[in-house]
Amino acid sequence: MAKATETVLEIDLRALEHNYLYLKGRLPPETQFLGVVKAFAYGSDSVTIAKKLEALGTDYLAVAYVREGVVLRDAGIRTPILVLHPLPVSFDEMIERCLEPSLYCPKILKKFLEAAKSQAQTAYPVHLKFNTGLNRLGFADKDMDYLAEQLNGRKELKVASILSHLAASEDFNERAFTRNQIKAFEKISLEIHKKLRARPFRHLLNTSGIINYPEAQYDMVRSGIGLYGFGNDAKIDKQLRPVVTLKTVISQIHSIAPGESIGYNRAFVTQSPRVTATLPIGHADGIGRQYGNGKTFVTIQGKKATIIGNVCMDMIMVDITDIDCQEGDEVIVFGGNHTADGFAKNASTISYELLTGISQRVKRIILNE
Ligand SMILES: *Cc1c(COP(=O)(O)O)cnc(C)c1O
Repeated sequence: MAKATETVLEIDLRALEHNYLYLKGRLPPETQFLGVVKAFAYGSDSVTIAKKLEALGTDYLAVAYVREGVVLRDAGIRTPILVLHPLPVSFDEMIERCLEPSLYCPKILKKFLEAAKSQAQTAYPVHLKFNTGLNRLGFADKDMDYLAEQLNGRKELKVASILSHLAASEDFNERAFTRNQIKAFEKISLEIHKKLRARPFRHLLNTSGIINYPEAQYDMVRSGIGLYGFGNDAKIDKQLRPVVTLKTVISQIHSIAPGESIGYNRAFVTQSPRVTATLPIGHADGIGRQYGNGKTFVTIQGKKATIIGNVCMDMIMVDITDIDCQEGDEVIVFGGNHTADGFAKNASTISYELLTGISQRVKRIILNE
């Protein structure tokens, strides 16, 4: 593959396929798979990823907001799309684009029902989300009678599925809490069967849930980070392949005498002679200020080059004193041995934040289409 001559995010569709097949391999064949492609498919390229997942046979896709789903429909994606956090302002558009809402409280249900009525819908698929302990979105147990009253005999809507979301599926110290969430979800399912006289399909697990709680895979699972190559667990990470690699290039090299400073606010002052490289990537590209001042490194000629001084909007400076390199050489920001997960952890954050923050200014290059 060609060496980077500017800042690029490479998206490897063969790695995506590998991860999809790996995750599918952890499920019984009849269990459905939902690929989460919210936030530009975790910062990569939602249309490219959704098309590939559709070709691989994913049963569902999910986005967080309606606008994200509209982009996929405009690109010709026909797979069912679940919208995890729909807001009433976009309910009409949702119905026009066949996007399926996750309904999470009485007010949202009422508003969606009004939209479905006004557009003369019958059996429009909706998904009911229950709060089992995350305390973020979801109906409460006490809403069950309200749901029965609103939905029984209702021709406009059809409850396609019920779902909940785990708060700590990757955390072994929270196994008791997670098991209680699973129990609560079981109880909700039974009540739904009784009160709605329906058997909507069920889904609870995200990536770490798939791995750590196979007994709760139910009818479908929802995977995001795993598809992109991270399993929140070193053992699983070995089985997965990171889909994106962020690369850039050395634009200028400086030899700096002791006692000089580097970058804004003179955050780094040299004690000894240093050689630095300036790279065309900064916080406007998604490398936030938390990665500056020695917290992490990029890789040049296979060697670590620490980010020194403050991260600028469009640039960072790295220490290349002990690296034999030149202006124009390729730089791996993350990918290969220094994964997005490691890069993020160096600055006390998580791969999810680093990946989804890669800005739209960065050119995307699709590999292995
Ligand atoms: C984002 C999200 C997921 C995907 O989680 P991963 O940890 O990335 O697999 C699943 N379900 C819901 C409700 C989400 O918001």
